Amino acid sequence: MEIEKIVASIAEHDRQAIWIAGANPAKGAGLPVLWCNPRFTEMTGHRASGDGATEIVLFDTNGRSACQGLATRLRGTEAFTSRLCYRHGDGATVPAELRFSPVLDVGGAVTAWIVFQRDLSRDAVSDATEAEPDAPPHDLERDLDAAIRWAKEAESRLCDILNTLADGFVLYDSDDRLIIANDAFRDFHGPVRDKVAPGVSFEELLRYGMEGEIWDYESKDPECWAQHQLNRRRNAETANSLIRLKDGRWLQRNEHRLPNGEMAGLRVDVTKHQEQQRAFNETSHQLELANAKLRCKSMFDEVTGALNRHGLEDAMASIAADQAPDQHLALLYIDVDQFKQIITTLGNDASDYILRAVTTLLRPLLEQNDLLARIGGDAFVLVLDLTAGDRTAEGVARQVVHKLSRPIRYGGLPCHFTASVGVALSPIGSFDPAAMLNNAEIALHRAQNDGCAQIETYSRKIQEAMISRNTIADEIMNGLEHGEFVPHFQPQFDAETLEIVGVEALARWKHPRRGILAPTHFLEIAEEMNIVAEIDKAILEHAVAEMGELSKSGLQPKKLSVNVSLARLTDPNLLRGLDTLDAQGTTLSFELLETIFVDEQDSSFDWRIDQLQERGIELEIDDFGSGRASIVGLTRVSPKRMKIDRQLVIPVTESSTRRRLLAAVIEMGRSLGIGVTAEGVESAEHVGILRELGCDTLQGFALASPMPAEELAKLMAAQAFRSA
Ligand code: C2E
Ligand code: CA
Ligand code: CA
Repeated sequence: MEIEKIVASIAEHDRQAIWIAGANPAKGAGLPVLWCNPRFTEMTGHRASGDGATEIVLFDTNGRSACQGLATRLRGTEAFTSRLCYRHGDGATVPAELRFSPVLDVGGAVTAWIVFQRDLSRDAVSDATEAEPDAPPHDLERDLDAAIRWAKEAESRLCDILNTLADGFVLYDSDDRLIIANDAFRDFHGPVRDKVAPGVSFEELLRYGMEGEIWDYESKDPECWAQHQLNRRRNAETANSLIRLKDGRWLQRNEHRLPNGEMAGLRVDVTKHQEQQRAFNETSHQLELANAKLRCKSMFDEVTGALNRHGLEDAMASIAADQAPDQHLALLYIDVDQFKQIITTLGNDASDYILRAVTTLLRPLLEQNDLLARIGGDAFVLVLDLTAGDRTAEGVARQVVHKLSRPIRYGGLPCHFTASVGVALSPIGSFDPAAMLNNAEIALHRAQNDGCAQIETYSRKIQEAMISRNTIADEIMNGLEHGEFVPHFQPQFDAETLEIVGVEALARWKHPRRGILAPTHFLEIAEEMNIVAEIDKAILEHAVAEMGELSKSGLQPKKLSVNVSLARLTDPNLLRGLDTLDAQGTTLSFELLETIFVDEQDSSFDWRIDQLQERGIELEIDDFGSGRASIVGLTRVSPKRMKIDRQLVIPVTESSTRRRLLAAVIEMGRSLGIGVTAEGVESAEHVGILRELGCDTLQGFALASPMPAEELAKLMAAQAFRSA
């Protein structure tokens, strides 16, 4: 191809006259001009025979028409040079030097002669003789030969170089027919490698490959795949694509259209890279999946599928960032009332079931842009977008309370519970997620203080109450540090003799401004603050110290009872602290609420109870019959006494039914071998009835109110005096 181009270029543009003569001219006739270049026509006045001309008639220098020597040489197959004369188109005889180069067919026969012609000056006519056959060819001829040789060598060198490449190389002409390809390119064609030959078109090669089944169509229809390849090829100046071979290899195909219309292409085996890439992609995909799962996990509650606290905060932050000036939002903080008790009764398995059931009941209340989250335990949050429509936050809260007050069936039985809701309303266009959550929670606490199934909307008043509560909380902390929590002692009397048999230490707060405060002023807040155990500890230590003081005058009571909260009972330092106390001969007794036995049921609890009893500490079940008590507590530990709640005691003066009820409770204690103390003994009548019913010990305002240690000392002294 290169050679043809060089020839064509020379033929068109060179100043040398070139023509092609037909082979074997008839004797004496002129030589037919099959083709000539423009310069030849310009020089000789002749055209190619295709134009209706021409034979060129040659003479020797003697004017003989067809020279013998020329005819002989033209029958041969060797190149030669002759000096002859020719008849110019204008009739003149012109001397010229002609270099004949044979064009041979595959059989070696001459099919034509390429003639390079140079005119000589007319003076040279006389000198025009036949040149020596081996005379050096004209410069251009030599250049052409050299160029042809160079081009052939270059082509072969290029082929050698290309074949050393591991990558496939191919060159197509502007008609998409293959010009050259290297061995690597052929190798990629496996069984049809022999079809990779000059002249084959891109499409033909593609289809040979299909017949040889070398392409992997990557689950496409083969014809669609082929059309796709062809289209891409046709339309693009550069085409880069990845092809998969049936043998599993991947080829990167890069094609580039050259300025002359040819298409140069590279085929690089990228199998290894591709496998690495695939492995990398697979790993990335897995990572992405794991990450998404993790994200999902970190945003959503696993039990209910609702948002979790983190997810809610995230979603609310987005709302706050994008809110419209007219956007009106509300936040409902929902808490299932007595959830802990329900789970204690039904078992832990019920927990997830009920939480899911609650979620299912809440979901239908959601409208577009609303959020539902479970932010821990049994606390749910609804964020409502009230901008459009006629819903109100209170209306939705009522629906919540209504829906959650209907029983849910669990294990075939109806499970009854209620929910309370705290509502916070956002100022229009100004949504502050943290403040909303905080305000709704404050409102919820307020709602729960009022009982079950309550709704409260956050207001400034509530906030003030909350602030005052916070102030009290600070003061409690401060009071604990400064020893402001002290015991008052309420004596307990033998029902028969009315002798003081013991005292119950009851916490009082010596408030620096408000005076002596009873537990109603601080116990609930202290419970919320989780510091009841510290109050219990302070009261116990203080009370024991007072017993020590009383013992100095021999007036200490036989028994000191203290109230012990669950937190105190499970305090890891309790036993060690007890070992350092010396009650100076007074027996120590712990009053435990029946709910403690229901709440805490693991073996470490039993161990603790044993440890207390081993130290000689007596146990009493407090508030028996208050509704929080049951028989479980009586059988679980072996208490020394049960204290009948004043709610059971006080009404005995009013009805015989109440008396019978109390009698049954007392009888139960006696049958279990447990001592019975009656609380709330408010009158002499109570004393009489309780004594009659078989109560062992009496405690109440009728006999003595709670009093400070000094008064107790006086009372003990008076009693000692009486009995002396
Ligand atoms: P509680 O253990 O049942 O204590 C008896 C409560 O009944 C005392 O109230 C006492 O003042 C009151 N009371 C005594 N006699 C009568 C009576 O005849 N009629 C009536 N209506 N009430 C009577 P207080 O001192 O206000 O204590 C209330 C509750 O606070 C206690 O009930 C106890 O549960 C708790 N508490 C008191 N001190 C402590 C303490 O140091 N630690 C813990 N954890 N709780 C304590
Ligand atoms: Ca008590
Ligand atoms: Ca009690």
